[in-house]
Amino acid sequence: MKDFLQALRLEATNAGTSTGAQWLSSTGSQLNSYSPVDASLIGQVTATDKEGYEAVVAKAQEAFVEWRQWPAPRRGEVVRQIGEALRQHKDALGKLVSYEMGKSLQEGLGEVQEMIDICDFAVGLSRQLYGLSMHSERPGHRMYEQWHPLGVVGIISAFNFPVAVWSWNSMLAWVCGDTCIWKASEKAPLCSVACQLIVQDVFAKNGVPEGVSCIVNGGREVGEWMSNDHRLPLISATGSTRMGKEVGKAVAGRMGRSLLELGGNNAIIISKDADLDMSLIGCVFGAVGTAGQRCTSTRRLIIHQSVYDTFSKKLANAYAQLSIGDPLDSNNHVGPLIDTDAVKNYLNAIEACKQQGGKFLVEGGVLQGTGYESGCYVKPCIAEVTPDMPIVQTETFAPILYIMKYDTLDEAIAMQNNVPQGLSSAIMTLNLREAEQFLSAAGSDCGIANVNIGTSGAEIGGAFGGEKETGGGRESGSDAWKNYMRRQTNTINYTNKLPLAQGIQFNL
Ligand code: NAD
Repeated sequence: MKDFLQALRLEATNAGTSTGAQWLSSTGSQLNSYSPVDASLIGQVTATDKEGYEAVVAKAQEAFVEWRQWPAPRRGEVVRQIGEALRQHKDALGKLVSYEMGKSLQEGLGEVQEMIDICDFAVGLSRQLYGLSMHSERPGHRMYEQWHPLGVVGIISAFNFPVAVWSWNSMLAWVCGDTCIWKASEKAPLCSVACQLIVQDVFAKNGVPEGVSCIVNGGREVGEWMSNDHRLPLISATGSTRMGKEVGKAVAGRMGRSLLELGGNNAIIISKDADLDMSLIGCVFGAVGTAGQRCTSTRRLIIHQSVYDTFSKKLANAYAQLSIGDPLDSNNHVGPLIDTDAVKNYLNAIEACKQQGGKFLVEGGVLQGTGYESGCYVKPCIAEVTPDMPIVQTETFAPILYIMKYDTLDEAIAMQNNVPQGLSSAIMTLNLREAEQFLSAAGSDCGIANVNIGTSGAEIGGAFGGEKETGGGRESGSDAWKNYMRRQTNTINYTNKLPLAQGIQFNL
């Protein structure tokens, strides 16, 4: 038994459905969690059946009636304590993330740090859920708007950020007065059980009603129950564009609200005025970090033709130095893909790229032998392409980097924008005019646009999300909290007359 599993009290767990302190027994099938690191069976959870799902929704609705009445700063205090509990469990939870999902330990710990950061953000927010006041056109009237809790929030998350995405949603939703039902990815179910156990103790100490934090387990079917459930006014779903289109349609069909965080196809423009050494770090980390399985991973480099040869040589040299292996060993840069299906997708994309005319500057392949027994370790690779190739237009969730040339900045921006996705983008340049053009209304069309920073990773203070097929949702910082509340406009007449708006006369 790994010590971090013990520290997180995951030894004996095979119950998955929970309404907080209570773990519901379920007749659903068993979900096995295998580590992509070494193919070990880490643990099992029980998939939520319809009966368990109904019990969870009923509990979450009941809890909402009480929780919405708690003053927001008091809810914030509970979230502050969750942040403290996460600090205590950072090491163990970071290791679990790394072992269950396969990202490097540094990144696993970084993900837990993001959870701590969003807790801090949410605590401050709990005293800043501001409305506005407006001047009424009618004499003796006061008009303002206020924000009320929304209800039960459904959270559907992807495998690649198995804990942070839930915290971005739930910490904000909780200070806003909502209750949450979380369906984690079926590929990383133990991470959600670990989070629930951490939250449970804090909630018990504070007398938080049962049902404020709920988890359900399973795959697409359980997600579909949530999307179609009118008792869940908001579905926040993170995952592939395919999933988002289905969820978006189901939620719109019942006039619910969806917050969609979907696939990316992120590019960095390398200008002739770029600091090439600095750019190299951003490009390589962006492309190979988390083995290319971040929504913000760098998938395309658009390189000025005058620095193309120099920069591609630097890239090839850097790739030759990458060490691939156990992500819990800090000497390794790149860990495994999530499973062997992901390896198949990687190999298919390489094949498609070759058939479409791509030339590999750094070849890919699946690693075999000692340390690679899980069959999930692949070589990061680089292909020289043209932007119109169909494979370059799609997101393959693997470390495949497409590189291409440009001549003018207008052309580079058009290439960067001319894909269906719109999540993250960047330009590497020391030229102020270029940087400003890239950030202008005629520049990048993405939700995130950076200068002299790669595409990958984001701070919790900003609103996170993207345009077009990335789904349009915004999570985390800035005013993303408004997704989790309902706005109400209030007008109060403190006179003994009833003047109507727009000067309408209605005499009886
Ligand atoms: P996925 O779409 O296969 O699954 C994501 C989640 O959706 C899982 O919990 C799954 O069970 C559920 N699901 C699948 N089909 C569903 C349906 N029809 N209805 C309801 N729920 C359904 O994605 P994945 O492979 O886990 O994650 C990789 C994808 O997620 C990539 O495309 C990546 O870019 C994207 N992603 C986006 C962001 C972002 O913030 N934009 C963040 C992380 C991951």
